[in-house]
Amino acid sequence: MHGLHDAAGRGGLGAVMGSKNLKAVAVRGHNLPPVADEERIKEIRQQLIANPHPMSQYGTGGPELPGMEITGNLPVRNFRDGLFPEVKDITGVAMKDSGIRLGMDGCFACAVRCKKVVKFDEPYIVDPDYGRRPEYETIAAFGSNCGIGNLKAICKANELCGAYGIDTISAGGSIAFTMECFEKGLLTIKDTGGLDLRFGNHEAMLQAIELINKRKDWANC
Ligand code: SF4
Repeated sequence: MHGLHDAAGRGGLGAVMGSKNLKAVAVRGHNLPPVADEERIKEIRQQLIANPHPMSQYGTGGPELPGMEITGNLPVRNFRDGLFPEVKDITGVAMKDSGIRLGMDGCFACAVRCKKVVKFDEPYIVDPDYGRRPEYETIAAFGSNCGIGNLKAICKANELCGAYGIDTISAGGSIAFTMECFEKGLLTIKDTGGLDLRFGNHEAMLQAIELINKRKDWANC
């Protein structure tokens, strides 16, 4: 994790650090890097401010999400299905329209600012310190791939993973796989300790993240 809400989660870097008992790398500095042409940098900055990048409005997982469903690029129910009628309910546009999005944020000094900041208090509390920035991959992993069209539950899943330092894509993919095993009877409610892990059950999905974080096996949950 860098900061509280951004994760370089896909390369297994956390596992490498863990294997070396390395908890964190801290960097501090005060010198500005030299700029070859300061005036040109200012010009470019003004151009970017005058012509905002399309990602500045919704970030990833915005209005293009329904198109991804139509073209078969959206993972649905453990990559098994193609259609997800609730897709419009889980986009960055829906985040803005529903009022749960506070605004946009960005990485240090970036003019694009493609990061959505989400905050709400019911039915769950989502802390924007951890809960900002549900990206396309997170929306797809906890949303369509788990058969879940509940935007607030997806944002809560994102917040929990940010707080626990869990990779959202792997967590969502693992839960979707487990949901398919459950649907096919390879896992039963006895195996899951009473958790009804059917596709679309957002409460079970959130509970599964808690279990992953606590490293509890199903039988003892
Ligand atoms: S640097 Fe950060 S804020 Fe800027 S476009 Fe890339 S991911 Fe988005």
